[in-house]
Amino acid sequence: PQEHRYSGIVEDCCCDYETVDHLNEEVLHPLLQELVKTPFFRYFKVKLWCNCPFWPDDGMCRLRDCSVCECPESEFPESFKRPYHHGLSSDDLKCQEGKPEATVDRTLDSQAFRGWTETDNPWTYDDETDNSEMTYVNLQLNPERYTGYTGPSARRIWDAVYSENCPKYPAEELCQEEKILYKLISGLHSSISIHIGSDYLLDEATNLWGHNLDLLYNRVLRYPNRVQNLYFTFLFVLRAVTKATNYLEQAEYNTGNPTEDLKTQSLMRQLLYNPKLRAACPLPFNEARLWKGQRGPELKQKIQAQFKNISALMDCVGCEKCRLWGKLQVLGLGTALKILFSVNGEEHLHQRLELQRNEVIALMNLLNRLSESLKFVHEMGVAAEKLNEGT
Ligand code: FAD
Repeated sequence: PQEHRYSGIVEDCCCDYETVDHLNEEVLHPLLQELVKTPFFRYFKVKLWCNCPFWPDDGMCRLRDCSVCECPESEFPESFKRPYHHGLSSDDLKCQEGKPEATVDRTLDSQAFRGWTETDNPWTYDDETDNSEMTYVNLQLNPERYTGYTGPSARRIWDAVYSENCPKYPAEELCQEEKILYKLISGLHSSISIHIGSDYLLDEATNLWGHNLDLLYNRVLRYPNRVQNLYFTFLFVLRAVTKATNYLEQAEYNTGNPTEDLKTQSLMRQLLYNPKLRAACPLPFNEARLWKGQRGPELKQKIQAQFKNISALMDCVGCEKCRLWGKLQVLGLGTALKILFSVNGEEHLHQRLELQRNEVIALMNLLNRLSESLKFVHEMGVAAEKLNEGT
């Protein structure tokens, strides 16, 4: 680890850079790495074959690594598996188009999703209750990394995300809440770029993978704002997780494997009630000061619609694996927004927080991705900068 380039409090947050790195490396990163390997958190239900609502599919992806490898049924946790008894209609066992290995048992839901709400998330475009064409993906087998997805197709998505949904007004014209939406997207973008740089195909001929520090520097580190936005996004999502402590502590992490499920519960508790986290950064982000003005409710609706559009744009990502992680992480952000702004706030005392199973999976996997990005920047940042000075 290197001396920190950034100092002071992360803008709009309540903790400083050094504390965030320290907490991340000592507490959060190790716990999250364990957590996302558990059966509950490693299977994500997702609709990968979707029509882009904005323009015809122009999917261009160079590498085989663009494809997602779905779960064969034999791999599902026990409670996800098809019951042997009666009553399954052929509709329940539809194969994914052209992908027989990805057969999905639609009856899984009534077992594995028992105890979880199906309430829509007002911040996101689609959700797990829309069952057509859903499949389960083992996230551990599909790491987010370089895929070769680039050029106009990728550029068009980012441009649409930034210019259509969070227009770049001169900074002072952006109200606090809009600035936050911009920072969340920018922080996520930084994290995606950092994952590309940390796991890059260095030599196609020999299939050599490794760090691309040049990319890390040129896409992220050169722009201090992008690094700052990454820290901001991390703290924002962390605050959502801590705010949902009661709910997340009591949730059912049931996959039919008692040993693994107890471990999941225990890891969640270690994270939620971590004394070091509570002492060093008790309030990672203070959501209470938002939406206060007269325009508050109207502004919230506007930003909700903007975020929903960003969520819909993920169906236009022309590379399957990028779409998987794009959808997961945008759902994770949408879940954080829901926790912080849609329910359980002081103004909504009567509305109880309810989360979908998939939202919790997305939230914790997103936090893990952001945590990995922070760690990589902290460990490799100075080396990447030195390398760049030398060239
Ligand atoms: P891009 O990353 O495409 O950036 C476009 C423009 O956005 C930049 O020129 C800059 O003006 C601005 N910008 C860049 N970063 C930030 C930031 N942090 N904050 C604010 N503005 C910024 N590729 C993979 O190899 N693997 C993946 O898993 C992957 N996942 C993706 C997921 C999504 C949702 C999308 C839209 C794309 C994904 N891509 C992935 C493609 C990747 O993000 C880049 O678009 C691609 O590598 C081309 O990079 P680029 O250098 O043209 O800049």
